This record gives sequence, structure tokens and C-alpha cells, in this order.
Amino acid sequence: MTELIAHKKTRILIVDDEQETLDLITEYLQGKGLEIESATTGEEGIRQVELNGHDIAIIDLHLPGMTGSELLKVIKNIRPHLQVIMITGYGTIRDAVECMKLGASDFITKPILLDHLHLTIKRILEEQRLKEEADLAGYYRNLSRTDELTGLYNFRHLISVLKTEVKRHLRYGRTLTLAMIDIDDFKKYNDAKGHEEGNEVIMRLAHVFRHNTRNCDILARYGGEEFVILFPETSIDESMIVSQRICSTVESSLGVSVTIGLASLPRDTTDHNDLLRLADLAMYWGKMHGKNQIAVYGESMATCR
Ligand code: GH3
Ligand code: MG
Ligand code: MG
Repeated sequence: MTELIAHKKTRILIVDDEQETLDLITEYLQGKGLEIESATTGEEGIRQVELNGHDIAIIDLHLPGMTGSELLKVIKNIRPHLQVIMITGYGTIRDAVECMKLGASDFITKPILLDHLHLTIKRILEEQRLKEEADLAGYYRNLSRTDELTGLYNFRHLISVLKTEVKRHLRYGRTLTLAMIDIDDFKKYNDAKGHEEGNEVIMRLAHVFRHNTRNCDILARYGGEEFVILFPETSIDESMIVSQRICSTVESSLGVSVTIGLASLPRDTTDHNDLLRLADLAMYWGKMHGKNQIAVYGESMATCR
């Protein structure tokens, strides 16, 4: 751990008006391989923070002029991610706790136990490292779930969510409706306007979906110009209203139209693949019967293809 800190050249800023304390901490932490800068007033501390590059600031709560907690507020404003450790006397622990509420990471009390200070620094750095790792993992997880062009879920993630949702809805006896959406005559549109403009339509279509659905609805790009919306705990009739809104918004604002097929569970099936297939069948029926419309799956459509 100490080695890790030394390799990363952790930079620490100490703000304390007592030269003796500054010297003591500086010498000790330099001995641990850390890079130390110091300031004796809040104003000087701010100048140093503005120059950036510190991983941790250690601030005495009692400074002449600007107090430590005032300095903390200014610092958090300039560099919200800078970790701050407050130094306080025994009588002012309450103030130090207030500083924690303002964003300080921890506090230590005077007289300073140097080993304790070092442990606090190591713990804060470790927590920071873990958080960065978790953020990165979340970022990549999200990337692997979403479609690059639209930011909607991709096919793979849709199938995984669909399986879960189907189980959940069957278990609790709820209705799950699936909409299969396909842009009409998109080949012609691409041929006339070019692929880039086609991509622009796809992005704007995703926007229309987001604006016309609820947060809990699940939006996915199923394939090139095909999309799926899952409406949890929603009947066909309710999904019809949303679908109509989508259809008319697309037609009036995107220069293309869409055909939507709807199927629901448990009404039409209890299988997730079948739900996709039946919604697709309904969509295909809509294509056969003039496009730019919404078709609800019915048994008469089963021979449609
Ligand atoms: P229909 O009304 O029957 O759906 O006709 P269509 O022309 O939309 O259907 P078809 O399946 O014949 O062609 C789909 C077209 O969608 C082919 C391709 O040009 C276009 N397309 C698919 N994915 C993308 C994409 O990512 N970007 C762009 N710009 N176009 C795409
Ligand atoms: Mg298609
Ligand atoms: Mg199409």
C-alpha cells in the first residue's frame, strides 16, 4: 500500500498556521514517500489548490483570517473531488463533524498521531481507487448493454431483460405488452437522402421513444431499423395509446412513418421468444395492410406470413 502511494506520487497540501505542526507532518509524510506542499493561511491554500494536482488537502480548522471550514467550502467549490482531512483540537470535534457534512473526508485531532494520519490518508486513497474502479466497471457495463447510435438497449441486453420481465409478469399475473416497431420504406429514404441522414432519423426516432414513454418502459434497438419497446404492467389498450402517440409524432416530425405490431402476455403467449414473434407477425400484417399503422396481434394473423 505504501509502495502504491509512493509510485503514484501522491501530492498532499497541508494548511496550518503553526510552523511546528507543518514541519512535523511534512517531514513524517515525506519519509513515507509522499510529496508535500504547505500553506499557512487560507488564502495561500486556495492559490495552491487553484494550481491543482493535489490528491488530498489537510486543513487546520483554526486558521487566522479565513477559518478552516470556510476554506473547505471554497476548496470544494473549486475542486469537488479533492479529498480533505480536517485537523481539530479536542474541544472542537463538533465543528469537525460539521465539516464532514460540508464534504470533508475525515478529521484527525491534535495532538496529531502521525501513524493515525498516515492510515487515514491510505484509507482515503484506497476508497478513491475503489470508487474509480467501480465507476469504470459501470461505464463498461453500460457500454456493453447499449446501442452506440441511439443509446437504447441493444438486442443482447433486450433479450436478457425480456426473459426476466416475462418471468416476473407470469409470476405476479401481470400483463406485459411488447411493441415491435419498424420504419416504413426506409430503404427508399436512405437511397434518396443518404445513409447519414438515415442515421439521423434513427437517432431522432429514439428521442421520440424516450419522450413518449415512461421511465420504466424498456427501449431497445432490435436490429437496423427495427425497435422494441417493452411496456411492463401495461395492457394492450394502454400500449395502443402510447403507440398512437409515437406514430403520429414520427409522421409529423421525422419525415418517415413507422408500423407497430403489439402482442401481450399472458393473453397471446407465455414464452418470451413467442412474444417477439407474435409482435413481429402483427407488425408484418400492418406492413401488408398499408403501413404507418398499429396492428394488434390476433389469431387470424398467424397465417399472415
Ligand atoms: P418496409 O416498409 O417494408 O420496412 O421497407 P424498408 O425499406 O424499411 O425495409 P427493408 O427491410 O427492405 O430495408 C431496411 C432498410 O433499412 C435497409 C437499410 O437501408 C436501412 N437500414 C437498416 N439499418 C440502418 C442503419 O443503421 N442506418 C441507416 N441509415 N439505414 C439503415
Ligand atoms: Mg425491417
Ligand atoms: Mg422497414
